[in-house]
Amino acid sequence: ILFFIQIIPSTAQQTLYKEKNAIVEVRITDLLKRMTLKEKILQLNQYTLGINNNSNNIGEEVKSLPPEIGSLIYFSNDPLLRNQIQKKAMEQSRLGIPILFGFDVIHGFRTVYPISLAQACSWNPKLVEQLCAVAAKESKLSGIDWTFSPMIDVARDARWGRVSEGYGEDTYANSVFGVASVKGYQGKNLSDQFSIAACLKHYVGYGESEGGRDYHYSDISSQALWEAYLPPYKACVDAGAATLMSAFNDISGTPATANRYLLTDILKKKWAHDGFVVSDWNAIEQLIDQGVAKDRKEAGLKAFKAGVEMDMKDNIYFEFMEELVKENKVSIAMIDDAVSRVLRVKFRLGLFDKPYTATTDEKARYLKKEDVELAKKMAAESMVLLKNKQILPLRKETKIALIGPMAKDKTNLLGSWSFNGRDADVESLYEGLKKEFNEPSQIIYAKGCDFDKDDESGFEEALATAKKAEVIVLCLGEKKTWSGENASRSTISLPAIQEKLIMELKKLGKPVILVLSNGRPLELQRIEPLADAILEIWQPGIAGGSAFAGIISGRINPSGKLAITFPLTTGQIPIYYNMRQSARPDQGKYQDISTESLYWFGHGLSYTNYNYESLTVSKTKFTAKEKIKVSVTVSNIGKMDGEETVLWYISDPVASISRPIKELKYFEKKAIKLGEKVIYQFEIDPIKDLSYSDANGNRILEEGDFYIYAGDKKLKIELIK
Ligand code: BGC
Repeated sequence: ILFFIQIIPSTAQQTLYKEKNAIVEVRITDLLKRMTLKEKILQLNQYTLGINNNSNNIGEEVKSLPPEIGSLIYFSNDPLLRNQIQKKAMEQSRLGIPILFGFDVIHGFRTVYPISLAQACSWNPKLVEQLCAVAAKESKLSGIDWTFSPMIDVARDARWGRVSEGYGEDTYANSVFGVASVKGYQGKNLSDQFSIAACLKHYVGYGESEGGRDYHYSDISSQALWEAYLPPYKACVDAGAATLMSAFNDISGTPATANRYLLTDILKKKWAHDGFVVSDWNAIEQLIDQGVAKDRKEAGLKAFKAGVEMDMKDNIYFEFMEELVKENKVSIAMIDDAVSRVLRVKFRLGLFDKPYTATTDEKARYLKKEDVELAKKMAAESMVLLKNKQILPLRKETKIALIGPMAKDKTNLLGSWSFNGRDADVESLYEGLKKEFNEPSQIIYAKGCDFDKDDESGFEEALATAKKAEVIVLCLGEKKTWSGENASRSTISLPAIQEKLIMELKKLGKPVILVLSNGRPLELQRIEPLADAILEIWQPGIAGGSAFAGIISGRINPSGKLAITFPLTTGQIPIYYNMRQSARPDQGKYQDISTESLYWFGHGLSYTNYNYESLTVSKTKFTAKEKIKVSVTVSNIGKMDGEETVLWYISDPVASISRPIKELKYFEKKAIKLGEKVIYQFEIDPIKDLSYSDANGNRILEEGDFYIYAGDKKLKIELIK
């Protein structure tokens, strides 16, 4: 109530919403009073522009845009065009409400960083925050105010193409990295010069699409929803995320986009989110395909009543909302609430006060030296050394045969969702290696085969090249189009031609270092035994070449650890580290293969060795109100300096419901110099860290024993009355 008594200079009273210094809520109320129903409804629509970017239609598209629209998906990187469109909104609409320009900026804009899944393997949220801030700056300078990122869908099925876009299989990891990216995009204040609004997606349960088939339904128990899928959203809402996107999937029968329980009861009422929700592309109209609406109008009514404020591209709110109001199916109060939410984000972004973007030329906008350095750092920290039979790092004099379809490739290193990435900005693996080693002639190259064309004609050259070298560095992987949206795979192995190439090369009897670039875990069952070392480089972005070469040469000591499990075979999926306890832990095995994964979540080797010593706790028996400190000393007893991430897990062996085998509760990465010891600490808050959710989202804390794990150490603690 207080903010309504703000004292306003009388001259400004007519256009209070334009007063920069007035409180946001006051400005919203003032503006809302002046808007017609039509103007309000237009704020709830997002149009697209430039989707056919190659056609010369943009001019025509701009002409046909109503100046009162709420938002645009901006498939351009031209700030001048943005300003021209914005000018239309500011000057040709009655009230001059700025348009919100949104776009998918997922892992960098022009400075393309590793995909999000790779970023999680760095276990370095500070870096994630920094690179998202760079992405925000480059976006802002390109005319974009709002990114459809981060994706914080817990993803446990590697067949699903979109595992590449999120932070892996763990709930806590998705929370931490989600929060880091929100902070990076949004900065201290949304109105800062280079802040953009974040959009949490896809709310919620999209990662659970049955069978890993994109757009399919998810069947999630209420308990699992609260325990595993909602917490990253809650954490990011608490961190101030301005918007969310409703998901395509339905959850146990109710589509996320028509789900009032999720969108209103939980998000808006329980969590008090005061920004807005946008539907995913076509998600409102798809309510018809999902079988819960008979036509577009009913689909619009359902989505709006559930709590979707902005219609992405479907044009349904534009077409039917006025009618729905006239028919008393939608109240003006509901419209006002929805419009307020959209306006709130626009006011907070400072769009009313600074509707235009600075126009600089491309050189000044992108790829600043320090931003590229950050790309190198993240690429280096996100790569995971999966296997090393004491072959890596290679001596400076080693004669290397660099082979494989990924060796000179640039496009695929950029990864999915990298619209503004340019091949010309990418350092290939080949280029990186040439720079890294003393004598460029040490590196000889042959492609061997294509990614998936069943053509062995390049094998001969590959074998001849390999014969001349001491070591084979074989670069295989997935094309970038094999992951991302609508890119599920039923088998996650490499295509047969790539597997055949390694089999042929192995016959030469030389060491094979397998380098993999892909957007998901791969099934490596047949080829893992043939490799002397395996380095997972993911889709590393523009600086992949230098980071890869640095690890091969030993200039960089690998420190990445998997944020997602590599199954042994596709048939093991779903397989993830924090499964619930089994009724017969020693049985229930497959007849044909082990139930162990190939590489579990958390796996990652280094060139040095770390010894986990003395896991200690400040108190072994404690009450719910006491916070206790656990510490572990880690010493670097290997051959070089390094960085080690301690992943802290807790298990709850006996509870009223069956709990996961263990759960990640905290992590920390620290540098440890050779021969030194470092102490890692984790403060356990029983209420937060030892409790679990019931089916209604209440946290339940039960007394009894718990175990703490760090590295290979384990410790029992007890919660008492
Ligand atoms: C995707 C979203 C994306 C949106 C806008 C949809 O197809 O599912 O993740 O943000 O398109 O491009």
